[in-house]
Amino acid sequence: MNEPADTKVWLVPADGRRWRFDPGSVSLAFGYTGDFGHGVEEWESLRGASDLDAWLSERFGPMSAASDSEVLCSAKQLRAAMTSAARAAAVGRPLDAGDVDTINDWASRPALHPHLPGGTTAPTPPTPAQLLATIAHDGVRSLSGARGTIRECTAEDCRLIFLDTSRPQNRRWCSMGRCGGRAKARTHYARHTH
Ligand SMILES: [Zn+2]
Repeated sequence: MNEPADTKVWLVPADGRRWRFDPGSVSLAFGYTGDFGHGVEEWESLRGASDLDAWLSERFGPMSAASDSEVLCSAKQLRAAMTSAARAAAVGRPLDAGDVDTINDWASRPALHPHLPGGTTAPTPPTPAQLLATIAHDGVRSLSGARGTIRECTAEDCRLIFLDTSRPQNRRWCSMGRCGGRAKARTHYARHTH
């Protein structure tokens, strides 16, 4: 079987201190390669096809082909549909039918094949398109509630979106160290000043 892909991403806020955010699913992690639909051009990290290949192979291992500008363009269409759908899901809005169509279309294409070690032939490394289909599969599972609930960080000034895969379904923060810790400090401060 293939190992589950790493779901963590590096984020660089305005103060420049980058931190590791775990959005809980590889399709949401893929969403964070761009501006997640907020319209901030500087947050784009897939500026060329080689950026896409670097991101994919970092998470899924070696590939059998390189992306071209066409693959990059369709990857960004999948990403836009995924982030738009995730933002809707996080606030309980119905998903846009066009976004759903885009994700379903990708999910219907050949994805990573499961592989049992111990045979006489090595698995063929996947193409970038197969990995995008794999990301779309994850998107379907994440958005359909099969693996948890898509939520927005509870901190008012944060709005990061993640898949809550915790057993009690009670993850409230993008990260305990970042927003969770600040909220605790505020509660503590309020309790001691009133
Ligand atoms: Zn947060």
